[in-house]
Amino acid sequence: MPRPIRASIDLEALRHNYLLARQRAGSARALAVVKANAYGHGIGRAIQALGGVADGFALLDLDEARALREAGITKPIVLLEGFFEPADLSDVQALGLTPAIHSEAQLVMLERAALAGPVDVLVKINTGMNRLGFTADTFAPALARLKAVPAVRGITLMTHFAHADDEVGVAGQLARFRQISAGLDCPVSLSNSAALLRFPKAAGQLVRPGIMLYGGSPMPELQSAEAIGLRPVMTLSSEIIGVQEISVGERVGYGGTFVADGPTRVGVVACGYADGYPRHAPTGTPILVGGRRTRTLGRVSMDMLACDLSHLPEAGVGTPVNLWGDGLAADEVAAAAGTISYELFCALAPRVPVSVR
Ligand code: PLP
Repeated sequence: MPRPIRASIDLEALRHNYLLARQRAGSARALAVVKANAYGHGIGRAIQALGGVADGFALLDLDEARALREAGITKPIVLLEGFFEPADLSDVQALGLTPAIHSEAQLVMLERAALAGPVDVLVKINTGMNRLGFTADTFAPALARLKAVPAVRGITLMTHFAHADDEVGVAGQLARFRQISAGLDCPVSLSNSAALLRFPKAAGQLVRPGIMLYGGSPMPELQSAEAIGLRPVMTLSSEIIGVQEISVGERVGYGGTFVADGPTRVGVVACGYADGYPRHAPTGTPILVGGRRTRTLGRVSMDMLACDLSHLPEAGVGTPVNLWGDGLAADEVAAAAGTISYELFCALAPRVPVSVR
């Protein structure tokens, strides 16, 4: 008998969330951000759900881009960090990819590559995130050099918001973007999920929603995924595999961090940090047992965690448990664990069997 842990991916929910993003984008085209193995959901599954509906895709790895092309996707594919070495450029061209150009090193590679056919590019402008991109000082010369590369065809200007859930932060970055790109007549790509939902007017011609496609709220403290109209895509589930009845003063798990303040019925769930559940999720993290909400108890172990069954007398060995997904938003679990749903999804461990529905 395999351990009862499993993840299921709801392809219909993924499609629903994408269509909601596109509807919010108005006339802008929406690239489905499927980097990091589609935020842990599986790039192949994302293609299955979105291949027919998405306006295009955005990701990082050449191998993932190749997988999309091999699956018959002919729509635009943006490489969000562009390319890393000259040899990548022949793949970029052969696969018809659209790299984001953000550095002097990439410019030099493009200039030296003597590419035969046309390549569309995005140019990344640093408006305050201070990770990648050209600045007010370096952008104009970079653009001039790009335009002088014979193979470069379409140029789209992009930036990435550091505080997309915050009005002041977005306004500041937008002002800087407009100042740096003033007078240019290029299409622009600005918004991730949070910006798309909060500031749809700032969308530009191309938006890049990621987390909302997977049913996570990009701003859970302001609006839940459910309130936005998003549906959970990944459900991580398992079962109760053991029950302990403990009395006042007894402790649960490594370090004995949970101390019972009265008779407590403890359920043991086959899910631990080696499955991708956050080890730092404290006592009190929500969990669904037999469809009813309860709390975790004590430290998360490698293969197990404990939960409180004191008010769930009907629960016992074999009772189904949802760690997140259907009935329990990943955002809630993430918040309790001091992280974000992005991290929960991406951390799903390879040992967890995944099915689609
Ligand atoms: N655009 C860029 C450049 C990104 O790096 C990301 C993700 O980090 C996204 C869009 C999608 O962001 P989100 O998942 O918050 O919608």
